[in-house]
Amino acid sequence: MPLFYFCPNHTDISTPVSILDSPIEYLKGVGPQRGELLRKELQIATFGDLLHHYPYRYFDRTQLNKIADVQPGTNDYVQIAGTLVNIYEEGAGHKSRLVATLYDDTGKIELVWFQGAKWLKKTLKENERYVIFGRPAEFNGYVNIPHPEIEPLSALAMAGGMQPMYPTTEKLRAKGITNRSFAKITQALFEKVSQGDVPEVLPAHLLSEYRLCSRYHALRWVHFPDNNEHMQLARHRLKWEELFASQILIARVRLQHTIQPGYIFEKVGDYFNLFYKNHLPFELTGAQKRVLKEIRHDTATGKQMNRLVQGDVGSGKTIVAVMSMLLAMDNGFQACMMAPTEILAQQHYQSISRLMEEMQIPVRLLTGSVKGKERKEILAALADGTLPLVVGTHALIEDSVLFNNLGLAVIDEQHRFGVGQRARLWNKNEKAPHVLVMTATPIPRTLAMTLYGDLDVSVIDELPPGRKEIKTVHRNEMHRARVMHFIRSEIDKGRQAYIVYPLIEESEKLDYESLMAGFEQVKVFFPEDKYNIAMVHGRQDAPLRERNMQRFIKGEAHILVATTVIEVGVNVPNASVMLIESAERFGLSQLHQLRGRVGRGAEQSFCILLTGSKVSEESRQRMQIMVSTANGFVIAEQDLAMRGPGDLYGTRQSGTIKLKIADIVMDVAILEQTRAAAQKIVEQDPGLTHPAHQPLKNILLAQTHQNNWSKIS
Ligand code: ADP
Ligand code: MG
Repeated sequence: MPLFYFCPNHTDISTPVSILDSPIEYLKGVGPQRGELLRKELQIATFGDLLHHYPYRYFDRTQLNKIADVQPGTNDYVQIAGTLVNIYEEGAGHKSRLVATLYDDTGKIELVWFQGAKWLKKTLKENERYVIFGRPAEFNGYVNIPHPEIEPLSALAMAGGMQPMYPTTEKLRAKGITNRSFAKITQALFEKVSQGDVPEVLPAHLLSEYRLCSRYHALRWVHFPDNNEHMQLARHRLKWEELFASQILIARVRLQHTIQPGYIFEKVGDYFNLFYKNHLPFELTGAQKRVLKEIRHDTATGKQMNRLVQGDVGSGKTIVAVMSMLLAMDNGFQACMMAPTEILAQQHYQSISRLMEEMQIPVRLLTGSVKGKERKEILAALADGTLPLVVGTHALIEDSVLFNNLGLAVIDEQHRFGVGQRARLWNKNEKAPHVLVMTATPIPRTLAMTLYGDLDVSVIDELPPGRKEIKTVHRNEMHRARVMHFIRSEIDKGRQAYIVYPLIEESEKLDYESLMAGFEQVKVFFPEDKYNIAMVHGRQDAPLRERNMQRFIKGEAHILVATTVIEVGVNVPNASVMLIESAERFGLSQLHQLRGRVGRGAEQSFCILLTGSKVSEESRQRMQIMVSTANGFVIAEQDLAMRGPGDLYGTRQSGTIKLKIADIVMDVAILEQTRAAAQKIVEQDPGLTHPAHQPLKNILLAQTHQNNWSKIS
């Protein structure tokens, strides 16, 4: 049962109505039409939302470069003030671009825009003074600046020294809501909003301890700083508040775990021991033994376990999960294992039921596609306790699934399940079951702290013995025939190969086309009378995909052509080649996951990263990282450093709070401060009932409410 709730009806009548709740269209300069657009495009619905729509950058008048000093290829942004001349459109249709020349007293430089050319052409005026911001590039031997941000110089005067630059969208700009409009309406906002409307939310002692400016000043200065120092102070304070809020939530969940009573697994019984003696197909590694010990310790304390097991691909997490489930059953409890996809659930089910068969333990598979009589049967057996073990997908956390006494839930491949989903498992019993989360994506410590700060962490930092390191190479399009020839020689030795194509949502249609084209091309190299090729992708219906997958798993197909549906977990020890097409389009962690599909058997395995013959310097570097290291932790760190966590883990979230200004990589120092501070407060006042914590609680309420997570269970 949940221990404490934040009362979700925070809009009760006793709360005075704040001006910040006023609908955005009531603000001077907005009106119904623009209001509608702001709501739709940027989710700015109220005065308060606008207040928290922060600039992402500032033009600082004092920081200007001269054109004569501009160098390409240094990766540095420049800001130049000058006069715009010679504006013209080049090309037609969607290939059209806008070209213009900017000059100052030291020289001239060309500016080019590929997008939004029409709108720019309408708004830019020749012989006017502008400030531009961008990164110089070299083009046909001379220097230009592609896609610079551009602002009339006169607009800068409006906001003192620093001109805020707001995130906006094409659509808004097309409707004339420019960066300058944002500055204007935000100014109008500050004419309405006074210090009293923006009360402090952080306890006073934190403000002084961490030298944070007041909330009101932070919000004022973040929009209209009079100097660089104020801008820094403001941003620091807002980041602090944001990370602090997320850390409070995490600390509350963590605290709840520590006081949450858990089932006690008293003994190591027959199942576990029998398995260990008779059915374990290999000797456990030291790391596997250590983690099992940690789990045994956790489950004997009388508190609920919440443990994250991090282990590189192939480190042998599954067997640790299986043995933990045996432990649960030894103590009379049910156990379940939840995987992120149907294919993975199926594969776990098959390997687990094989192991359980010998020990005569019934196990069933429950996924979305299990329906009708079979489903009813499984649900009934889970409810009356006759079924001790179930493997499945998200289907397991549906409300209709009730357990008799679920003692342990294993969640495989963590990063696809959110904190909220995990929480739903807890409501299935009188007491929360122990939770074991397995992740194959090694998460850098700082990120783990933010995303899963409520979990204890175990690491399997040792691979099973006898693994040969996978040979990884980077090849390009020109080597395709040679690559295919190589794969054929491996297959002729009796091995199997994966060929993987990228699939991203934005270019889904194109990606499917190239998958199909690729499939045809593979058939040319591998004639159908001699080679069996299976293909799996997300547009196939589940049974077909399953059949194709099984053909490969059983060894009937030599080659599996696939999109990234095989990314996690699939285990085919005989597969020794992984060819990744358009490898430059994958993230490093994803490449590492894919590579981990091979190297699972006794044979030497290979991973071939195939890219176009001309790739960017950054892509080349990324391929180089893959070639040079097999360590998932190193790769995850590099990935994080190169791409930022947003891309990597799907959302820019911390716990349940969407981060607007903080960055969990760049702001790790603040993160650590806020974590310590949050921990202290939550220990002293878990429900945030102290009057000094009331304002803080109110914003947490508002934020978690927005994320549809008003209770912490
Ligand atoms: P992952 O951690 O990526 O989920 P798996 O649990 O799928 O890895 O294990 C990868 C392979 O290694 C499997 O074929 C498994 O049977 C094997 N394996 C696991 N532990 C050991 C061990 N201690 N010794 C030898 N092989 C092992
Ligand atoms: Mg696995």
